[in-house]
Amino acid sequence: MGKASQTALERYMARRGAPPAPEPARRPFRHWRWVRLAALVALLGSTYALVGREHVAEPVKLTYEIDLAAAASGQLVITMICEGDLPGRLDLVLPPGIFSDTAGGVHARDPQAHELGPDGRQVRMLPVETIADGWRLVTSGSRRTGFIYTVDLSATPGSEQDVRRHISTPVAGGVRVAGFEIFLEPLGVPVKDLTVLVHNPTEMPLLVPWPALVRNEISRRGASDASLGYGQGFRPAGDTTLPTALETPPAAATVPANLVFHPRDLADLNNALLVCGDIRTLTAQAGDCVIQLATDRDWLFADEAAMDLVRRIARTEMGFFGSAPTDQITVLLSANGITGSERFDVYGVHTGSSVLVMLDAETTWGMLEEQAASVIAHEMFHGWLGEAVRQTDPTMLWFTEGATTWYAARMLTAAGIWRPDHARGVLGARLDRDYAGNALLGRVPVATAAAEVMGSNEQVRYGYAGGVTACMALDEMLAEASGRSRPLDEILRRLYNEHRGQPLTRLRLEETIAAVTGVRCGPWLDTYVYGKTTLPPVKSML
Ligand SMILES: [Zn+2]
Repeated sequence: MGKASQTALERYMARRGAPPAPEPARRPFRHWRWVRLAALVALLGSTYALVGREHVAEPVKLTYEIDLAAAASGQLVITMICEGDLPGRLDLVLPPGIFSDTAGGVHARDPQAHELGPDGRQVRMLPVETIADGWRLVTSGSRRTGFIYTVDLSATPGSEQDVRRHISTPVAGGVRVAGFEIFLEPLGVPVKDLTVLVHNPTEMPLLVPWPALVRNEISRRGASDASLGYGQGFRPAGDTTLPTALETPPAAATVPANLVFHPRDLADLNNALLVCGDIRTLTAQAGDCVIQLATDRDWLFADEAAMDLVRRIARTEMGFFGSAPTDQITVLLSANGITGSERFDVYGVHTGSSVLVMLDAETTWGMLEEQAASVIAHEMFHGWLGEAVRQTDPTMLWFTEGATTWYAARMLTAAGIWRPDHARGVLGARLDRDYAGNALLGRVPVATAAAEVMGSNEQVRYGYAGGVTACMALDEMLAEASGRSRPLDEILRRLYNEHRGQPLTRLRLEETIAAVTGVRCGPWLDTYVYGKTTLPPVKSML
């Protein structure tokens, strides 16, 4: 499954609210239908304003109950409860490539639907039809329906190159699942009040490294409504905390039999990562932030050494920004099951400020320091730049990815994990190969190449390496013009401190640069980043 399934996933991501990649300028505009729809919605809106609002559909309340009883054999039973003003036919869908691809790793099957009474009891069975991306529920006027289905996670083919298809998989004693692959979503109805409830009858170790959701709920609704907090939701692996003068070990906590959390919206629901099974965790605390290492297997290096590496990276990045973006940072080390010819040695995926790193099972301590550390530093940095300062506009990916890659190398150097000459060598080789030596140089603007996340590997490498080069060159230009050293440091800190929670736009970046340095950099960006002019050579990388 190469290109085709990616396209299906791309369609799905666009539909579920992830930012769609922009069309290249030469292709015809293909979204007239949506423009017309938007105009129609605007017209309907004004009609409602005149006629009254009693006919506006109420948002649907969604509750997902996940039963872990069969998780050890790779199966989750999920009950989806929809409440409210339901249409006569309600389409419940998964990504197209996931629902209909029989060779994939995730299968949803055995659907069953009922109307539910006020007490939650099943009143009558409801018909279910199979559609291309999921099921169509005939609600027949019900205001409360329960839809039960089983998610079966057989091993994803190792030849599948797309790392996103390896996130949901069986692990020792349980499963690791991504929200976007297991939660059916209703199409075409507004949604509010999302709840995820996990039944954990055998009290197996359980990790939900997306604590922002849970912690937000604790402060908003009171602790009684959320059962996962500091040190909860997982089984600590003995006395393995690493206390230092600045750190206090977190309170020991039991594994909850039931876990409740409330995603803010469907995007949060899709971002959720849930792991259960034979998981070991180690924790350390830095200020208000719990830093956590979790793994589902034995490695050639000690857990404690990996924990210390993660802690040093986290503390350096927290020190750079002045605080942590969330009150828990989790790094999950797992085996890399990808065997395709174009595989990478190490993969990193972040959700919130938590990081899943997939490594070769034979990774040595030296390889962890040399290779995996940069993936961990990169993905963790996205907790600040990408998540807290939100990456939503594809034309800003050159900056989000470029700055994150550059700063990851600088953070590793500052943390004493990489020697400066090693960092210079790694960065320099990458920029020479993927930017200066790339056939796209001078032909495609860096911002355009970086924005097309589904582009060829060569193009993505060019866009990201170009983004690193652009951030370095921008920093040097601003330093010369303003007399400040490393002005981009202060620009990043200011974006985080003053605009966290807001999307990063080109205007916001330009305004922040002007506020810090007094330089109006619009024409420079037009020339080197959004234009095809080759960037000036960089004088110092670190
Ligand atoms: Zn990245």
